[in-house]
This record gives sequence, structure tokens and C-alpha cells, in this order.
Amino acid sequence: SLLHRATFVISAARLDQLPPPGPPEVCFAGRSNAGKSSAINVLTNQRRLAFSSKTPGRTRLINMFGLPDPLAPGEWLGHLVDLPGYGYAAVNRNMQQEWDIVLGGYLRDRPSLAGVVLVMDIRRGVTDLDRRLSQWLAPSGRPVLVLLTKADKLPYGQRMKAVAAVRKELATLGDLTAVPFSATHRIGIEEATAHIENWISP
Ligand code: GDP
Repeated sequence: SLLHRATFVISAARLDQLPPPGPPEVCFAGRSNAGKSSAINVLTNQRRLAFSSKTPGRTRLINMFGLPDPLAPGEWLGHLVDLPGYGYAAVNRNMQQEWDIVLGGYLRDRPSLAGVVLVMDIRRGVTDLDRRLSQWLAPSGRPVLVLLTKADKLPYGQRMKAVAAVRKELATLGDLTAVPFSATHRIGIEEATAHIENWISP
């Protein structure tokens, strides 16, 4: 997969530290601890490309990875962007608000953003913050792929019920696909990969 070739490009504390908009970008967002880092690592087939920073007060960064163009050495076919997890309880209000602005700014203003991957814990379903983010994203028309991760934690029947509930809940919000996913048990990886690759090179 194209995603397996992802390499680290830059960590940015602010939006203006990112390279100017270039090839198509796919960003990953989600509540802290939902399983975003694990999802990125399994999709890129790398052990520690993404890592979650759970240290309170530590600057949370936007990490950007590049997907090398096999036909044009030195050029990127696309980028993966790991956004800081939201809703982390130990972060104080000011820092949280600051990050909401950074996150919101990226999602709203980045012209090269081709699609958004939203990572949710299948056992928690759509949380208030997830709902707010999805509603807020909808008018932009950007496609969203919801990875309902840790699907291995639910037996098959419950898993399918949870997926159906999320699809129903978010059905009105434009171009949105929800799939069961597990980084540890490798569920949904091919489907997610195909979806993301199609955003990068349709
Ligand atoms: P992040 O904060 O969203 O980046 O979350 P992490 O990827 O660090 O995962 C949070 C916790 O959930 C860790 O303990 C992971 O080992 C665990 N986890 C992540 N994905 C899965 C999964 O698919 N299945 C199971 N069982 N555990 C997972």
C-alpha cells in the first residue's frame, strides 16, 4: 500500500509552521485515547510512526507524514496529518480552547485537505465532542471516514449494532462512511486503506 511508505515530515505547534498547502492531505482526528495513534501505525504498517502524548501540559503537536511519489523521487504524492487528540481531561481550559482554534483552523482553512478520518472507540460511540466536530465539518463538504476502533472488544453482533447506530446518528451529515476497525486484531484495515488511498490518488 501507498500508505506503508509514509515518512515523518514535520511537527508543528502552530498552523503557520506547516508547509504551504500542496498535494492532497488526509487528517486523523479523535478523542484522546480513542486509538488514533494505533490506527495510523497499523495503516502505515509502522510500529511507532504516531505516538500519543498523554503528558499533561505538554505542547501537543500536529505531525505530518509524507507519502513519497514512486514516479517522482523527492516529491510527495500526499500527506497524512495527525491532529492532536481532543477532549483530554487533564488539559486545562485555556490550552483546550487554544487547541480548538488550531484544530478548527486547520479543518476549515486547509485547501489541500482531501478527507478526514475520525477515530472513535466503538464502545463509546459518538461522544458530544465527536458530534460537534462532525456537525461543524459537514458544511465544508469534506468526506469523513469514521473508524470505529477497538471493534475486537465487542462480539460480532454488538459490533454490527454499534456500527449501525453510529451510521444512523451521523447519517444526515453529508459524505460520511463508518466502518468497524481494530488495530490489534486487524479489522477493517483494507477497507480503510482503500478509502484513504482513493482520497489521495483517485
Ligand atoms: P490515541 O490517544 O487516540 O492515539 O490512542 P492510542 O492509539 O494510544 O490507544 C489508546 C489505548 O487503546 C492503548 O492502550 C492502545 O493499546 C489501545 N488500543 C488502540 N487501538 C486498539 C484496538 O484496536 N484494540 C484494542 N483492544 N485496543 C486498542
